[in-house]
Amino acid sequence: MVGMTKRRKLIVGNWKLHGSIAGNQQLLQQLRLNLQALDAVDFALCLPYVYLFQGQQLLAGSNILWGSQNVSQYDEGAYTSCISAAMIAEFGCSYVIVGHSERRLLRLDSYDIIATKLLRALASGLTPIYCVGETQQERDAGMAEEVIQQQLLNMLNALDDDALERAKSLNIVVAYEPVWAIGSGQHASPQQAQLMHVLIRQLIATRDHALAQQVRILYGGSLTADNAHDMLSMHDIDGGLLGRSSLDAQAFTKVALIANALAHGE
Ligand code: PEP
Repeated sequence: MVGMTKRRKLIVGNWKLHGSIAGNQQLLQQLRLNLQALDAVDFALCLPYVYLFQGQQLLAGSNILWGSQNVSQYDEGAYTSCISAAMIAEFGCSYVIVGHSERRLLRLDSYDIIATKLLRALASGLTPIYCVGETQQERDAGMAEEVIQQQLLNMLNALDDDALERAKSLNIVVAYEPVWAIGSGQHASPQQAQLMHVLIRQLIATRDHALAQQVRILYGGSLTADNAHDMLSMHDIDGGLLGRSSLDAQAFTKVALIANALAHGE
């Protein structure tokens, strides 16, 4: 374990390819209401690009920040359909998910592309949520730690001294999301996740001790109200990245309440 710093928990929703203008309005208004009194936890929702404007309209002034689920590796130019970090920042976004396994595995985002996206996000003042996670096959082959290490080193090696300072001031976030746990209903055990989170923190400490202390490492993968207490009680699990549970106001609120109660020592 690297130090005993107390980090404020962060609960993030990843809507993926879900939403509609009418449905979002209900969900966002309900969440705004439900979470308004929760003072000990940070919240964010990562929306499809086309709903960032709506998110900004409905969440501004609340205790829920918002962000995107991806960003282009390009700044501008003839790149049809790409959305740049500067464009995302114009919608008041605070966060951007970088390297989600659904991008890595389904859209073939390479290590190089992910590293470039990370830097683009930082340069535009967005806090990256940098995702790492092993597949079932990699875990079965005993390679889980090695894979996480490679993915983490990809992040650390991309950061020159300036970018590292930016990563610190923007409070970069890492999400450990075992691919086998995403959307499967089969979450990692709290102990399994804790071990990985410690490994991630130790790897970051080899580059920068202060960053390792402050970085929030979220767990993602079938995190629900049923397992949130056990998962979020672990010392190095600083919050959660929720897919399915972020699409339902009640489900997200239940996790938020658990995180807030834990933060208050209840
Ligand atoms: C995710 O894909 O980021 C995720 C955590 O999904 P789920 O919560 O649905 O497993």
